[in-house]
Amino acid sequence: MTEHSRLAPPPTTTPSGPERALAALARAGRRLRYHRRALALVAVLFSALALLGGLAGWLAAAGFVVMAMIVAGRGPVDKDDDDLLREAERARRGPGADREPDSWRLLLDAVPDAAVALDHNFNIMHFNARLEELFPKARAGQPLSQLSRNPELNDAVEKAVTANEAVVVDLYERVPVERRISATVSRIGGREIRRGLPFMIVSFRDLTEQDKLAQMRADFIANASHELRTPLASLRGFVETLQGPARDDPEARDRFLGIMSSQANRMTRLIDDLLSLSRVEMRVHLPPRGILDLNEVAAYVAQALEPVAAASKMKITVTRSDGPIRIRGDRDEIVQVLQNLVHNAIKYGRENGHIEIAASRVLDGSPPQPRALIAVADDGPGIAPEHLPRLTERFYRANVAASREKGGTGLGLAIVKHIVIRHRGELRISSVVGKGSTFSILFDELGTGTART
Ligand code: ADP
Repeated sequence: MTEHSRLAPPPTTTPSGPERALAALARAGRRLRYHRRALALVAVLFSALALLGGLAGWLAAAGFVVMAMIVAGRGPVDKDDDDLLREAERARRGPGADREPDSWRLLLDAVPDAAVALDHNFNIMHFNARLEELFPKARAGQPLSQLSRNPELNDAVEKAVTANEAVVVDLYERVPVERRISATVSRIGGREIRRGLPFMIVSFRDLTEQDKLAQMRADFIANASHELRTPLASLRGFVETLQGPARDDPEARDRFLGIMSSQANRMTRLIDDLLSLSRVEMRVHLPPRGILDLNEVAAYVAQALEPVAAASKMKITVTRSDGPIRIRGDRDEIVQVLQNLVHNAIKYGRENGHIEIAASRVLDGSPPQPRALIAVADDGPGIAPEHLPRLTERFYRANVAASREKGGTGLGLAIVKHIVIRHRGELRISSVVGKGSTFSILFDELGTGTART
């Protein structure tokens, strides 16, 4: 004998002829149950008239059949009947009428923007969690004017009563913080008031961050253009001089050509740094895949920049810890970080000064965790404390003249910051005026069990 699969329908017994007839009768009766009363009345009348009037027996039989169907259809309601009931109800009340009474509240809660539903008096009926983030004092029942005292919002709501499309308005708020919020007021359906249903939906979007980013972008382009225009103007000036008054002055020509060459180099450095920054920014969300040893990178950079330091009468030393300090990272980028920091130490350090590159393991944080550290320290004039928080901003310089004179672009530390972010590291800058500066970066060390992936 074969066993029945668990998923197979259970075996059924074939119903007998009369059973089938009864079931069909019951089914038909159940289908007619919505018209039960009318049918019953018709059936009774029909039967009475047929009997009283002495009409043929078939009329009476027909009345009895209908009554039998009604009686049979009064059995327990199964799932089919439930569906039938709902369908009939839906047909009676029209499309959409079967919704839960509060489903619009659920819809509002699911809206990704801050949103509030208003009744026809512009009182708050419901609001979602995002709205509370924007207006923590929001309460159901209060008038919209208490949410924001901005007269533009109330004007927009008034306008939306008759408008054929959503009314969008910008709200400039000053309290508790300065911000720009875009509000969209939409009337729901026509102008008629439906009891229990909102009359309007107002959604809000805080555009303050977006504005800040747009401003930063505009500032960046203005700064970059300015940085390029300065050497370009100088180049054009020398070209004109060489074409005119200095045309036959070999001594001036040589001097001017030297200056022109250094201005062209400055433009090249700026463009290189701009491209480098844009590349790093584009990859900032891609976690690095390689593995590198901070001891090895420290030694490599020290060796590469030894001649540059020597030209400024400076010395570079490397302090390493025992064994490799391995981190997950992009070697080229970490080399670029160290090069930028050592270049700065050379540019802004003191003559005959000393630069130290140190790779080590430290315990950091609370509770203390072992972390990998790479630091570049110089014994130069240091940086005044008010500049420290802004040093990694693009084109920010503590001393503009010194940076320009040393061929700085103002982008070196911005590049460092973005590479460190990509490596989930932490850049710390400490400085004592007159004593020197230290730029330290902490990373998760591989193999210590603390590395994040
Ligand atoms: P720049 O191309 O001007 O050097 P950076 O972004 O590398 O740009 O550095 C920003 C500013 O930080 C520099 O202009 C300088 O004022 C200051 N700075 C950076 N490193 C040092 C340092 N080691 N000592 C003193 N000041 C420094």
